[in-house]
Parts: sequence; C-alpha cells; structure tokens
Amino acid sequence: QAHLDRIEAVDTDVHAFLAVSSDALDTARRIDERRAAGEKLGPLAGVPLAVKDVLVTTDMPSTSGSKILEGYMSPFDATVVRLSREAGLIPIGKTNMDEFAMGSSTEHSAYGPTRNPWDLDRIPGGSGGGSAAAVAAFEAPLALGSDTGGSIRQPAHVTGTVGVKPTYGAVSRYGAIALASSLDQVGPVTRTVLDAGLLHDVIAHHDPHDSTSLKDVWPSMADAARSGARGEGLAGLKVGVVRELTGNGFQAGVQSRFDETVALLTQQGAEVIEVSAPHFEYAVAAYYLILPAEASSNLAKFDSVRFGMRVQPEGGGTVEQVMAATREAGFGPEVKRRIILGTYALSAGYYDAYYGSAQKVRTLIQRDFNTAFEKVDVLVTPSAPTTAFKFGEKLEDPMAMYLNDITTIPANLAGIPGISVPIGLAPEDGLPVGIQVMAPQREDARLYRVGAAIE
Ligand code: GLN
Repeated sequence: QAHLDRIEAVDTDVHAFLAVSSDALDTARRIDERRAAGEKLGPLAGVPLAVKDVLVTTDMPSTSGSKILEGYMSPFDATVVRLSREAGLIPIGKTNMDEFAMGSSTEHSAYGPTRNPWDLDRIPGGSGGGSAAAVAAFEAPLALGSDTGGSIRQPAHVTGTVGVKPTYGAVSRYGAIALASSLDQVGPVTRTVLDAGLLHDVIAHHDPHDSTSLKDVWPSMADAARSGARGEGLAGLKVGVVRELTGNGFQAGVQSRFDETVALLTQQGAEVIEVSAPHFEYAVAAYYLILPAEASSNLAKFDSVRFGMRVQPEGGGTVEQVMAATREAGFGPEVKRRIILGTYALSAGYYDAYYGSAQKVRTLIQRDFNTAFEKVDVLVTPSAPTTAFKFGEKLEDPMAMYLNDITTIPANLAGIPGISVPIGLAPEDGLPVGIQVMAPQREDARLYRVGAAIE
C-alpha cells in the first residue's frame, strides 16, 4: 500500500510506470496469510517489484515502449517474472523504457519520457529509465531491467541506484522481447548491492526455453554481497583500471569520484593497476552494427499479423502495403533508423564489410578482456562518461547518444557481468555518479563482493 501511495503521489511527475497492477494488494494479502499459516517463505516474499515493460506479463500489458504493441497482453509470463512470483515477489507495475530498449535516455519511449527523480529536467538514463527512476523515487524497492549495451547500468549510474548485468546466459531471456539476442541480458535494479544479490539469486536459473541459458548452479550472490560488506576479499584483490575508459572525455566530477573510490579500494588492501584494452575504442562502432543487424531481424515479427496493431491503408491494400503502413505508424524514428542500419549492414555485398568486420572486432574486444583478466580479478571504470544530461541535449544527435554507451558496451560484447554502484555526487552539478565493476564470465559473485565493499 505504501508503494502504491508513493506511485500515486509522485508518478505524475516521474512517469516511471506505464501500468500499475490492480491486484498487487490482494497478492500481498495472500502472501501474508501463507506466512501467518506458518509457511516458510523466501527472503523477498511480499516485496513489490517493478518490471521493465520489455518483460512480458499476463496481468498487465507489455509494450516494450512501442505504439506497435499498445495494450498487448501476453499469454505467458517471462521466466524471470514467473520465478519472481514463485519467490513471493509482487509485480507492482510495468516500467517505462526507450522503444524496444533502443536508447540511453528513455526519451525514445512512445509514451513520453521518464524524469530523473534527482532533477526532473534531466534524463533517468536508458533504456531502462523507468525501472531506475521507480527505485530511486521509492516507488518500488526492487526492479527488473534488461541490459543489451548498458540499459541497466547506465540508468543506475544517473539515478544513484545499483544495477547489474549478469553473465550472458545466467538469466533466462524467455519472455524478454528481444532487442539483440546475442547481447540481451536481464538483471536487477535496486538501492543496495545486497538487494541486487537477493533478486539475482531469484532469477538466475537454467531455463530450457532459452537456448543460450547456462546450466550452472550459482553461488549465492546475496552471500557474496554480505561477505563484501564485512570487508572480506579485498586484501590482495587485483583491480584493473581500464586506461581507455578514464580521463579524456569523462566529466571532471565523474572522474574525481571514481579516482577517490579507487584510492579507497587501495586503502582496503586491494592492489590497483592500470590495464590497457586497445580495441575498446572500436566497441561503440562494432556494437552499433551488430545491434541493429540483430534488431532488424528480431523486429521483423511485428508484421501487422502476428502481434499488435494493424493499420489498413485507405481502400484496402496488399499484404505488403498493410505491413508497411503498420510499421510506418507503429515504430518511432530511432527504431526505424536502426532497422534501416541493420538491414543495410546485413545485405548482400555489404555483409562482410559491416557485420562481418564488427564480429571480428567483437572477438578482439573479448581478447582484450581475456588478457586483462590474466592480470586482474576485476576491472573498474566510471559507469558512464557524464552525469544525467538534460532532456533534448542529445536527442537530435544519435552519435552523441551512442557515444554515451562507451563504458557499458564492452561487457555486453564479451558476455561478461558488470555492476554499477553509486559512489556519491559530482561536485559540479550534485548529480549521482556510479562506478562499474566487471568480472570474467561466470564470476558474477565477485561483482557483489567488491560492490558491497565499495558501497
Ligand atoms: N543505449 C544502448 C542502445 O541504445 C543500450 C540499449 C540496451 O541496453 N537495451 O542500444
């Protein structure tokens, strides 16, 4: 009830939610009854959960921020939603996002932007600005997001929350409306590292419905967070600062908070060294070929027949004309831009030059990580180059928007896990800053140990 009241009080301004559950309270009462009857419930039973609208749910519409899916009701729950319900979490609402998760500011939502609770004139990050803002504004204690190129970690950075992109394959993508299937990963958005660990433990399980789902049995991330909070594991830990992702191009206050945090790690017994990742400078270019290529293919299913809206041109029209009219009306400008880019990059004669080259760069970036992780246990960077920017600042300049992703994209290209943890406010504008910690594939527990030590 407290969270519903809070949503009622602030969401007209924040606009974190696209839908609010009508039966959350009933569900909460049923969980109370089960607890009263002596049933042993998990640590998150009864806790409200905000769910990014990219994840399909049976009890609320799932639009992925697009007009083409307005009002769409899924016949099934995404696996992460099912697992959350089974753990007693209560999906309280669906959160706003850039259309089909394309963006870094939530300005590309077909339903209007979400505002950053720290400053309503500024962006809450993207694409998962709704989930991060909901948690930052105390409208929900926990949220789920999806991270294809930073959409969990960058919103966490600009809203002073914790965001985790797990190892690729750790969390099921079944029921997550696909953006780029080789990069997409679902993860937690919370106010503390321990909260993120508790939610991570609920959602990271093998799922036969996702062909890339790992079969690993994971150690408890909550326990890793607890041990980090007790200061365990930092003595002798080797921390690498990525040379290419600091200094030039980073806002002064973001850089100074980052440097302070690194110094703090040294004080706590970690050994900090600088490492180089020479191919990271090509990461944004490679990502913005691979992502549109996969997205253009994934979005082909919005064909006016199988899902969502249908626009009938005047006087009828052929199948192709109906499809074209529907996609013209249903997709926003950023989605169209990427479909065109991706279709071009995949077309005969251009495939090797664009998509093929980008895949080779992806391999080189993976090798940069492998080389770095031979020397260090974790890598750290500022979570994004700047604090929250103002609405409209980058909207007309897609390249400027894309370059904002430089810090987060490498982890997606390599399938490795990353966390963003708040490290205070930038002195010049008083806005939140985050540090990103990355670990080798399957070493998600390290993020929680180090993240909780930093917090
Ligand atoms: N900003 C990135 C993009 O626009 C991130 C997307 C994401 O992680 N979903 O592609």
